[in-house]
This record gives sequence, C-alpha cells and structure tokens, in this order.
Amino acid sequence: MSLLAVTDVRKHFDGVRAVDGVSFALAPGEFAALIGPNGAGKSTLFGVLAGQHRASSGRVLFDGHGIDGWAPARLARAGIGRTFQSALAWGTLTVRENLQLALAAHAGGIANAWTPLGLLHGERADALLARVGLAAMADRAAADLPYPDTKRLELAIALAGSPRLLLMDEPTAGMAAAERFALMDLVRDLVHESAAERPLTVLFTEHSMEVVFGYAQRVLVMARGKLIADGAPDAVRRDPAAQAAYFGDVEEEA
Ligand code: ADP
Ligand code: MG
Repeated sequence: MSLLAVTDVRKHFDGVRAVDGVSFALAPGEFAALIGPNGAGKSTLFGVLAGQHRASSGRVLFDGHGIDGWAPARLARAGIGRTFQSALAWGTLTVRENLQLALAAHAGGIANAWTPLGLLHGERADALLARVGLAAMADRAAADLPYPDTKRLELAIALAGSPRLLLMDEPTAGMAAAERFALMDLVRDLVHESAAERPLTVLFTEHSMEVVFGYAQRVLVMARGKLIADGAPDAVRRDPAAQAAYFGDVEEEA
C-alpha cells in the first residue's frame, strides 16, 4: 500500500493556482525529489501535505487515512515531518535545548512546566545530535551555528517526531557543494538504515541537478502548479515536457 496518496489536489490563493490538480503516490522507503522552476508550487504542495495549508480540493491519504484539514501537530504525530525552505530554530536556546523541546512536544508536551529543560529527553537528544553530526555543537546557541549546521539541526528537529514521511524543502539551498553532498549522504543513510524495520520515506525539493540526479531514486517535476513528469531519474531527464519546462533553463551550479 502507498504511504502517501495524493489525488487531484489543488491549492488556490485568490486567483493563483499554486497547486493545480496534482496526483501521485509514494511507497514506503522511497527517496524522491520534487523539482521545478521557482513558483511551480512545490512549497505550497508541501504545505498542504504537512498541514500549513488546507487544500482547495482533492484528497490526501497518509497510511490509508484521509488527512484533509488535519493540523500540523496532528500530522506530525501521525508521522509526517517537514523541514522548511528557510531554517527555523529558537536562536537563543542551545542546539540540545532545541532538540529537547522538539522531543518534548512530540511526546505530548512538557508535563510539568517547572521541569528544567535540561532534564528532558537528554539521551535521545544527544543520540540524534550525534546522528546528524552536531554532537560537538550541542551547547552552542542555535543562532551561532554556521548555516549548514542549522540545516542539520532542522533535520534533527524533524527526526525528533520519528516521521515516516519526511518532506524537506530545499535542504541544501545556500550550501557549498561539499556541504550539500554531506547532508544528502546523511539523508540517504537515514533512508537506508530505516528500510528493514520502519521505512523512512523522503520527498525533497532541490535546485541542484547534481544533487537531484546524484541521490533521488525517483524524480517528480512540477511546473505552474501541475505535475508534468514523474518517474525514474534517467527517464525524467530525457522527458521532453520536463526539458521544456525546466531543464532547458536551470540555473548553473554555484
Ligand atoms: P515553489 O516552492 O515551487 O517555488 P511556491 O509553492 O512557493 O512555489 O509558490 C507557488 C505559487 O503560489 C507562486 O505563484 C506563489 O507566488 C504563490 N503563493 C505561494 N504561497 C502563497 C500565499 N501564501 N499567498 C498567495 N500566493 C502564494
Ligand atoms: Mg519553494
């Protein structure tokens, strides 16, 4: 069965058809890229899937349940996590505290508001920080992290909810090539490690074609709100519609 099934989803903002009748399904354990020009509707589609936006019409099933109208917190509990195009973290808290808060939120809130944050979920927080390569940064204020590390913290925060579907919106934007590949190596390893017991499915948006074709096992292409190609990377690379809409004028690699 599909983990995620999207059927004819639309999201209109006044006159703008940001998402205009999109259908696709993801199986457990897939590692897929969602690409397309700026304004294609990728972030809006993520917003619909993660509960920031309510679809104007259409249907989304996650693990067999209709999730239309579910709030982000409920979707997170159900197993949908996301990272955002611009990094989000509480800058004045330390890296570890950010993660402890995320773990507490997922566990159902802080039972006693007077419990010192330092006592909550410390082991799990340290394990997650180690897994994303931030162990040495645990006591730094999140605001002081170098940019690529804020993206790793964001990933750790998303993982705190033990997602089965992780939506990553431009996870490598603004990174140098080596950092991009290091982050995507990590994500790929997380997908592989999870496969046997509790498969993690990842859908990511990305502008670097090197990253898209270096990592994704499947590529979905959006343009003007519609899904115009969907398939194996090699097939999509050669797809005339995808070429016309996107590959023809992709920005050069930085
Ligand atoms: P992408 O992530 O592919 O660059 P977006 O989903 O951000 O595309 O945007 C798709 C279209 O929807 C754009 O035309 C954008 O201006 C519009 N849009 C996105 N969010 C909103 C919003 N909250 N209100 C109005 N228009 C929006
Ligand atoms: Mg976007």
